[in-house]
Amino acid sequence: MKIALSVRVRLLALCLGLATIFACSSLVLGYLIERNQERQLAQQEQYRRFEIIETTTRALHRTRHAGGRVNSSVLRGDAEQERLARAALEQARQDMYVQLDQFAEFDPKGAKVIRAILDELPALTQRALDALLAGRMVEVDPALAELQRQLDTSEQILHVASQRQRQLAREFLEQERKRAAIALRIAAGIIIAGTIAGVILVLLVVRSIIRPLQATTVAIRRVNAGETAIDLPPVGPDEFGAMALALRQFRDHAEKLRMLAYQDPLTGLGNRAALEDSIQREIERSARDGSAARFALVYLDLDNFRAVNEKLGNKGGDRYLCEAATRIQRFCPINTQTYRYSGDKFIVLVDDLADVEDAQAELSAIADALLHGCSEPYPVGNHLLSMSLSIGIALYPEDGHTVEQLIGSAEAAVYAAKKGGRRNARFAAAQATGTARRQLALTTDIRRSLERREFDVYYQPIVDVARQCVVGGEALLRWRHPERGLLLPGEFIQVAEDAGLIAEISEHCLTVAHRQVCAWARRGLRFRVSVNLSARQAQDARILRLLDELIEEDPRAAQLMDFELTESVLFDSSEQTRSLLDAIRKRGYRLGLDDFGTGYASFSYVQRLPIDKIKIDRQFVAQATSSRQARAIISATLDLARNLELEVIAEGVETAEQMRVLQQEGCPLQQGFLYSRAIPAAEFERWAASFQLERIAS
Ligand code: C2E
Ligand code: CA
Ligand code: CA
Repeated sequence: MKIALSVRVRLLALCLGLATIFACSSLVLGYLIERNQERQLAQQEQYRRFEIIETTTRALHRTRHAGGRVNSSVLRGDAEQERLARAALEQARQDMYVQLDQFAEFDPKGAKVIRAILDELPALTQRALDALLAGRMVEVDPALAELQRQLDTSEQILHVASQRQRQLAREFLEQERKRAAIALRIAAGIIIAGTIAGVILVLLVVRSIIRPLQATTVAIRRVNAGETAIDLPPVGPDEFGAMALALRQFRDHAEKLRMLAYQDPLTGLGNRAALEDSIQREIERSARDGSAARFALVYLDLDNFRAVNEKLGNKGGDRYLCEAATRIQRFCPINTQTYRYSGDKFIVLVDDLADVEDAQAELSAIADALLHGCSEPYPVGNHLLSMSLSIGIALYPEDGHTVEQLIGSAEAAVYAAKKGGRRNARFAAAQATGTARRQLALTTDIRRSLERREFDVYYQPIVDVARQCVVGGEALLRWRHPERGLLLPGEFIQVAEDAGLIAEISEHCLTVAHRQVCAWARRGLRFRVSVNLSARQAQDARILRLLDELIEEDPRAAQLMDFELTESVLFDSSEQTRSLLDAIRKRGYRLGLDDFGTGYASFSYVQRLPIDKIKIDRQFVAQATSSRQARAIISATLDLARNLELEVIAEGVETAEQMRVLQQEGCPLQQGFLYSRAIPAAEFERWAASFQLERIAS
């Protein structure tokens, strides 16, 4: 069982442990110091005793010596010397008494014997002196001998005492040495054991703190690195438990953030960041596993999404995108992953592809399924919207080695697909990538050319075959490219639209055409000129301001100009577009429906919108002489126009036969290469002046 001790308790335990070790060491040291002091005291005592014995012995010698001097002075009859000697003897004797008091402390018996001898000493000395003075020589010697014996006894006692003390000192020293050795060993043992225990305790406590800290640090690093499936330290009541809980919350939060950072909130698909990560991982995996690991990007771009968005509004556009996302996922195999790359662009990642040929076959099948599966009409309210997409496919490693290269190749392939008529799929190839690069360069080129006024307006004549005259023309843009020569709109309109530059280019065209119409009118040439209105322009009230400026310059043109709208403009028949179209019309301009018959709702627009004329699309004109169906459509269109009192123009007339058929059907206003291509204003003027229908029809 694991006990969750709080860090505070652990540190407290550590402090307690260290304090215990410190206390033990202190006690041992104290004991050693005390022992040392005791030994020093004992030694001092010994020295004192030696000193006492020594001093006593010296006093005894002085006594003996003084006694001798007394004897010799008495023998010589020197009274003075005798007196001095006796005084010295007495002094020595008194000194001995004093010393004996101290000596008695450690040798009371010896002291007692010596004290008795000292007490007797004067009497003995006197007896010997008396015998000497009385000439009793027989008594002298035994008396002196007795005296000497007594003194010798004393000396002997002192000597024995000294020997004993020496013996005691030796024994004490020996004992002390042994004791000190044992004490030292015990102390060393205690200190070493204490230190070892302390170190172990410290290590354990430090480890118990460092380990969870390290585990937490590692976990934080891994969470930061984006790993989510990691073992987190257990949550518990101690500080680490609390840290683990905080870490868990951090991980959950990071996971949520990652989800947000990697998920497209609208469709729930992975977003661009997620896609780029996945591609990077695939590249790394392929590098690890070898060339067999091939994968592909299937880049899907919704056709006409801008128009859809404009028609349905933001919310509706969002729903449309979600539907597209659902369809894409539905028609993709399970081993694929779909991402929303941006706006209306999706990328499907297909991995585990084998060799190039099989891969291309598999991818073609996927693209086909997507093109067909996604193209079912999308219901909005009580009508249907078409949904279609263009597909570009890039293969790793053939079409790029990095994330950017691969996406770039796929993008280039989509461009190629769109150029090839939308609702189309293309594999990326070096040449396609080159095209894309050109497209990109074009965007920058367009901006520059707008500044340098390299865009020209040409006019394609519109003739009235019944009245055999030129009624006007359609203003068409031409780009005098400094390197590539004269470019037709097909080469730049789509790019300009994608780059958001179409409005500016179109406004330029409108301004030039406006001024041209006025210039002609001033000179009595009343040509009607139609200008194409892009979907973007029809959204923006900016065009009204421009028109007002132009009308202020010269008000005549309004009555002489038409705007041609395509279905993509009318797609969004919102209140805003409607009122904008009304406002344009109120200023005197007329509105025409371009490419009539190509969209599925042409007829319904004609009824609902303020339209003055329609332009039969050139695809019907081209088939007017060969297809009964086309002819029927033309005929029906003309009927409708007559009923609604609309003017009709047929565009794309290339042959005299087409001209006649159209005329028979009742469509005298015609435009096409049969008459003229779009030409500069001056040339248009000359062409119109010399126009003769017979010359053309023959
Ligand atoms: P659109 O409005 O349908 O213009 C008619 C296109 O048909 C012109 O191509 C014209 O040259 C071409 N065309 C005329 N007669 C014939 C013919 O007998 N046979 C064939 N095969 N084609 C014929 P262009 O000038 O290349 O313009 C292409 C498109 O570019 C235009 O189609 C129009 O949608 C767009 N565009 C041109 N100028 C402008 C502009 O100033 N603003 C906007 N928004 N779009 C423009
Ligand atoms: Ca047109
Ligand atoms: Ca047209």
